[in-house]
Order: sequence, then C-alpha cells, then structure tokens
Amino acid sequence: MWRVVLGSLVFILSFSVRADLPHPEVIDVGIFSGQPIQNITVVPAAGGYWLADAEGRQIAELEKHQPVEVALMGDHCGITMGDSTFYVRSGIRFHGHRWENFFVIHVEGFPYRIYDDDLLVRAGRERLVLVNRVSVENYVAGVVQSESGWMRHPEYYMVQSIIARTYALRNGGVNGHSDYHVCDGVHCQAYYGRSGYAEIIQAVAMTRGDVVVDEHGELINAVYHANCGGQTVDAEHVWQRPKSYLRSVTDSFCVQQPGASWEANIPRHEFFSFLEQNFSVNPSREKKEQILHFSQPERSHVLEPYDQIRLTLLRAAFNLRSTFFSLSPYNDMIYVRGRGYGHGVGLCQEGAMEMAKKGYTAEEIIRFYYSGVSLRSLE
Ligand SMILES: [Zn+2]
Ligand SMILES: [Zn+2]
Repeated sequence: MWRVVLGSLVFILSFSVRADLPHPEVIDVGIFSGQPIQNITVVPAAGGYWLADAEGRQIAELEKHQPVEVALMGDHCGITMGDSTFYVRSGIRFHGHRWENFFVIHVEGFPYRIYDDDLLVRAGRERLVLVNRVSVENYVAGVVQSESGWMRHPEYYMVQSIIARTYALRNGGVNGHSDYHVCDGVHCQAYYGRSGYAEIIQAVAMTRGDVVVDEHGELINAVYHANCGGQTVDAEHVWQRPKSYLRSVTDSFCVQQPGASWEANIPRHEFFSFLEQNFSVNPSREKKEQILHFSQPERSHVLEPYDQIRLTLLRAAFNLRSTFFSLSPYNDMIYVRGRGYGHGVGLCQEGAMEMAKKGYTAEEIIRFYYSGVSLRSLE
C-alpha cells in the first residue's frame, strides 16, 4: 500500500465576468447533493479517462470498464483500483480526455447513474463531495431529461432546453452553494445524469446557446413549476422581490392536466393552533368562519382577513402542493381543495406542454409565461 498526499482541491467558481452575458463552457454541478455519501464506484464507460490530481495532473490512465472505488477515510479519500489502494488528502478528478466521455457511478442505495464529462471527488465533512464538471450543453440535456421525462412534444423539449440553460447561466455560482455552481435537486434544477434520448439531444442542439433576456438584455431568472392551476403568481408573493417578467398570467392550457387539482385534509385544531403559535392570531367566531370558508376565485397571497398570514407559509407548514386553494369545514376537519402544483411563478410546465401540442412555437410559449422577454443567442 502506498500513500500520496495531494494539495487541496479547489473548486473554482469560474463564470466569466464580462460586460456581456456570461457564457461559460462548463458548469460544476453538485451531484448526490445533500446525501451523506461515504463511498462510490466509478466506471469509465465511453471515451477515455485519466485519474488526475486536483490540479489536473495525470496519476493514471484508466481502462474502460475498470471500476475505481473511492471511500471517505477521515479527511482523506481512499482510492482502490484492482489490488492497490492509495490515499489523497483532498481530492481527485476523473478527467475525460476524448471527444465524448461518460462514466457510470454507483452509490449504494441508488440506481446506477451515468454522467457526461468529468467527476471531481473530495473529502468533505463526513461525506464525499461529488462534482460533475460538465459542458453546459450536456448539463442542459440532463436537466431536460430529469425535469420533463420521456415522450414530450419536440417543441416543449426546446422550451425546457432554453429555460434550463438560462436558469443555469443566471443562477450558477450565486444560488448559495460554495463547492459548486448548482446542485442537482429541485433547489436548483433536477439533474440525475446524462440524457441518451435522441429527441432531447436534438432539442438541445437546435437551441444551442439560446437564452431568455429581459427588456434590459439581462438573463432572466427563468423559474418554472409543474402546474399553475390556471393562474401564475407574481414573483413578490413568493420571494418578496418583484420582477418585471414574473407577473401573474391567466393560463387556460394547464387546467385539464394531471397536476391541475388536488385535495388535502387538516385537523381544525392543528390549523388554528398553528395560526396562534406563529402569528398570534386568535380569531373571533366570525373571523374563524371567514377563514373556514376561505376561497380564491383569483389567486390571493394571504389568508384573508389576515394580511400577515402568507399562503406560502401555510403551504410549507402543511405540505400542500400549492398556495392556490380554498377551505371548507367538515366535522373537526378542514377540507382543502387546491389547484396546481409548485410555487406557481414563471413558466407552467404542463401548460407549456399543452401549448406545444397545440402548435405554439417555443418562443411563443416562453413569451406567454415570461412578460416582456425575448430570446437571444450566445453563440
Ligand atoms: Zn441548489
Ligand atoms: Zn398553468
């Protein structure tokens, strides 16, 4: 057994700062983010891979299909290839050096996943930190796959490609992550590996470099959600700050779709004690009746008549699918009848899918959900 200690691995947040729009070639994506990963097995599947140190210096050329195990050993990574194990203090990189490179990763408790391009691994606090350093276009294809699935209309895949790219370029590096630009969960955008699906790869290629900009030519925060329930939400009602392009629009396209309606039940005493504990609200009988018959013919953002009770807080507390709901009492329960799925701001995915089927273009769909925007090519 031998021991190699490498310098610390620094993930450089390298989005270019130019007067023009950011246009990085690669993005660092935290994968299996939030999972307490202790060991992984990586298998090069296509192209060619070097095992490299944090600075990119080659340690070994890897054989295709040769498994490499990496395990957390205190503040080191233990790397096992065949019969030999060695240790590095901070990090290693699986570096793809041919035209098209991808690898398989196996983590106990998860199905196998396949990723394009490079993998950086380092010992974090009681877990391995895994970063997929991937070309932006490959990342976009993976997001489209994870966020929209199979068998969608080609025009919809183009919509999802453009907004996933815009979201990543706008939010990469500024979304609260220190080890990478974006995570792979819904906090940023779902990304569970490479897409091998021809329709998606084609949509990404056809929209290569296309992004959405606001009236000042700035990348928009291209947020989206599953289903708005018939009306999207003004941004400030979810995240405090208004945005000119994130205005409420009436959407007839999603109302017959799977995410359009839902229901839930909340015990009455639980609901009112939540209001009392969190908002010091102890309603009179009359106001209690008003709350028990709360309804939203159009979206509201507070539980009338109480301006301080924001619906986003109720959604989080009672794990509701959306803030677009009405209430009615029965026995000692409150029946919640809701519309839509998700925060409701920006593009409604199920509405956009329906628009694509009806023949709208990707640009028309994007301009329907984001007010006053236009498309721009970075190529
Ligand atoms: Zn994130
Ligand atoms: Zn909708």
